[in-house]
Amino acid sequence: MEAPAPATVLPRSKHPIVARRLSAGARKVLRRLHQGGRNACLVGGSVRDLLLDRRPKDYDIVTDARPEEVRRLFRNSRIIGRRFRLVHVLFSDEVVEVSTFRGAPDPDHQRRSPGELLVTSDNTYGTPRQDAFRRDFTVNALLYRASDQAVVDYVEGLEDLDRGLIRAIGDPNLRYREDPVRMLRACEFAARLGFDLEDRTLSAAFKHRREIAKASPNRLIEELIQLLASGRSAAAFDWMRRSGLLPVVLPEVEEVRGSAAGTAGFSRLAERLDERVNNGPDVPLAVLLSASLLPRIVVGRERLEAGGKAVHRRRLQRLVDDVVDDFGSRFALSARRRVGITRALETFQRLCEPNHSPGVVHNLVRREAFAPALELFGLLSAATGSGGKSLGFWQQVGESAPSPATTGTTKRHRRRRRRRGPRRRHL
Ligand code: ATP
Ligand code: MG
Repeated sequence: MEAPAPATVLPRSKHPIVARRLSAGARKVLRRLHQGGRNACLVGGSVRDLLLDRRPKDYDIVTDARPEEVRRLFRNSRIIGRRFRLVHVLFSDEVVEVSTFRGAPDPDHQRRSPGELLVTSDNTYGTPRQDAFRRDFTVNALLYRASDQAVVDYVEGLEDLDRGLIRAIGDPNLRYREDPVRMLRACEFAARLGFDLEDRTLSAAFKHRREIAKASPNRLIEELIQLLASGRSAAAFDWMRRSGLLPVVLPEVEEVRGSAAGTAGFSRLAERLDERVNNGPDVPLAVLLSASLLPRIVVGRERLEAGGKAVHRRRLQRLVDDVVDDFGSRFALSARRRVGITRALETFQRLCEPNHSPGVVHNLVRREAFAPALELFGLLSAATGSGGKSLGFWQQVGESAPSPATTGTTKRHRRRRRRRGPRRRHL
């Protein structure tokens, strides 16, 4: 067998990561594991982002210590996951995730049928090198080692970071079949970092795009939320279009193709959403998710009203229900999320109606869904360059109305992706 290529090791003096730029929690966890004689490394997005001089969203640590040992070292920690156990170390303002180096999954235990590559269980511990090769993209597999503060690269991720490339580790065809969510992640990272998708990483996504249907809807929706909240969703949708994933993941976009508010409208809407994410306070989850359904609602309404037909409000509500039902069942959305989206879109429809009596205005403004509906109205108005007058009106009445009590349907989304269950099976 061919000897594996040696790792590239950049000593502390040869890379820009300085320990004090790590979060306090990550520093503490690394220090304590190292002082306990363990190999401990920062890994994943935090190393990538620090090398790019970006602010990491969260910090992941890998170590040769087993979960029970990590748990014992940190009073403020808990073990999560049943199949593959991880430790969350909890600090007042962050959660640091610690996992044990993983090895290759045992093929006998992971396949449901011959030829099936989807990884369904993932229990084996391994070496740092094995762990790196199990990660998704080369730029996500770099290590920052606590013992000497060197950056260690087993997968030529440093070169890809320099060249601005998202490249799957190993054969992208296999890697996508093991875990189809990686296709969506590829688009998201390329967009977020302003990188290109390496040719094979892109063409394999096109080839396997339909397999995204095999992915867990819970993981898909979390990735989609990350993408919508990234401030780079227009670019991500562009990559999804180029890789053929867009119509598979969001057929609602395909459906509106050919309409004025259709595909081009969708890109403009995504651009406005990005502006909003980048320049304003957190965008409520109901707004993020509804925004991706808005073109379909607008086009559906246009079709119903074709030829100047008056359409009963109940019919428009049914349109919202149908669109949300379809989306909600594809992504296994919780009832709470469905309600949040439905109310936002329904209220948005009401804001679009002409000539409201003062009583109706009063009632609409008092709705809890008024704020998300107004955001949607604003996004659409900015994307289409129309409706500015009505928008001004609703903004004005909204500002003078007392704010309704919130029940959490628009809960903020900026949190770690869910770590329990299947999403971590692949490491
Ligand atoms: P972000 O900045 O969004 O947090 P990230 O790269 O840290 O990006 P996470 O979802 O936090 O992404 O995952 C942490 C790391 O776990 C990744 O960098 C990657 O090494 C690994 N990983 C996550 N999901 C997968 C997957 N589906 N397949 C293989 N490796 C994965
Ligand atoms: Mg991360």
